[in-house]
Amino acid sequence: MSNLEPNPGEELGGGAAAAVAVEPVRELLAGRQVPLGPRGDLVTRTLPHRDRRMVGAWCFADHFGPKDVATGPGMQVPPHPHTGLQTVTWLVTGEVLHRDSLGSRQLVRPGQLNLMTAGRGIAHSEESPAGSPVRRSPTLHGVQLWVALPDAARWVGPAFEHHAELPVLVEGALSVAVLLGELAGHASPAGAHSPLVGAEATTVGPVDTRLPVRPDFEYAALVLTGEVELDGVPLAPGPLLYLGCGRSDLALRAGRSARLLLIGGEPFEERIVMWWNFVGRDHDEIVGFRTDWEAERGFGAVAGYPGDRLPAPPLPATPLKPRGRIR
Ligand code: MN
Repeated sequence: MSNLEPNPGEELGGGAAAAVAVEPVRELLAGRQVPLGPRGDLVTRTLPHRDRRMVGAWCFADHFGPKDVATGPGMQVPPHPHTGLQTVTWLVTGEVLHRDSLGSRQLVRPGQLNLMTAGRGIAHSEESPAGSPVRRSPTLHGVQLWVALPDAARWVGPAFEHHAELPVLVEGALSVAVLLGELAGHASPAGAHSPLVGAEATTVGPVDTRLPVRPDFEYAALVLTGEVELDGVPLAPGPLLYLGCGRSDLALRAGRSARLLLIGGEPFEERIVMWWNFVGRDHDEIVGFRTDWEAERGFGAVAGYPGDRLPAPPLPATPLKPRGRIR
């Protein structure tokens, strides 16, 4: 996924732990519709949010679809760069083909995790699989999230992981797949660089339970399908429910089929600058990343994508500033 806003503003994130809700809260953060790709498909972006820029190290959340991709090109995100983050691709329905400058070429399907670690720099593309006739599911629906890398890991070499099998906790009509980190003793094999968790709870019937969580983590949740009641708050697809810290469990109720994505982590202490597809620490770093991408230097090339790479948009007129979690 690429941030394809033609003139992306500065995306603020990171910073003072004082701005983290240390007590349980229930803040509904409305998403905004953002065009993705040259054809302007809209996705719902809930992170970064004006009022809440990060949840743990999670710094970006796009919910796309359900979209009819039975005909036409489907999703087409041309080669573009990333730095200082990991991308997490998770599907409800459909398929996405990932290619990157390490030479990876990997189809991801529902229930599987594509985790790309940009580190000091990588380029990738994402597309609906083609073929003649088109061989893909008629509906594409999923999320892409970004995780900011802490200072200790942000210059690591780029890496790509595909996990077809993830640990799943099953309890009656509830199953919980652990994408990143650990939940209820189930640990994901995916590589994380800060204390965090990402999990998807799927219900196939009535559920009334409590998910074990950590008081030192802050959490937020996004419903992908159906409706649930989380910590007493009715939740449907759209907003991100920010929950703060301070809980040891989280009440989850559902009447029937639903899917809920839970993200959380230790409050991220570092201030970051997020602009276009880059996460850095100051203006000059971002300028350097952008200059390298425009000069076709340092990110490598993505082989096989049927189209041109994305040019970087112009930098904003005012210098990018590292800022706190809220402002
Ligand atoms: Mn991307």
